[in-house]
Amino acid sequence: MNPLTEQEIRAAFVNCTKGEAKRLSVPRDLAERPWDDLDFLGWRDPQAPDRAYLATELDGRLVALALRCPSATSWQTLRSMCSLCMTTHTGGVSLMVAAKAGKAGQQGNSVGAYICSDLACPLYVRGKKDAGVGARLHESLTLEEKIQRTVANLAVFIAKIGLRGG
Ligand SMILES: [Zn+2]
Repeated sequence: MNPLTEQEIRAAFVNCTKGEAKRLSVPRDLAERPWDDLDFLGWRDPQAPDRAYLATELDGRLVALALRCPSATSWQTLRSMCSLCMTTHTGGVSLMVAAKAGKAGQQGNSVGAYICSDLACPLYVRGKKDAGVGARLHESLTLEEKIQRTVANLAVFIAKIGLRGG
């Protein structure tokens, strides 16, 4: 994906208030991120372990999501599969909950998904990050197909959240 700036990321949040988007923690090393290998940029808030964020481009539009990991500890010993990139980790997958965009979110509606705790799915898919023995299923898919599947899974997740203003 194309490199993003802090301003672009903050402006792209669809499921939190403008004030939250302004205050939340955006990585300081954006310039050094491996953008060529990313389908989305995901990060955890170092000050708030139950918060995670994700930014991606969907149909030419930048979309950023605020996520919560309500049960960060209870999943740490379980072996589970990321619903985006299909990587299996022991303790490396968290339930992440996103408030829905707009009115539905204000009314408390949310969508959950099991996602790699470090949100490094694009790097696991490409084999640039190792999730340990047995992390990947034996699949006949090509790398390109796996990448497309991850992007498609993310698009489904984002569609469930609903986009404000279009
Ligand atoms: Zn993943």
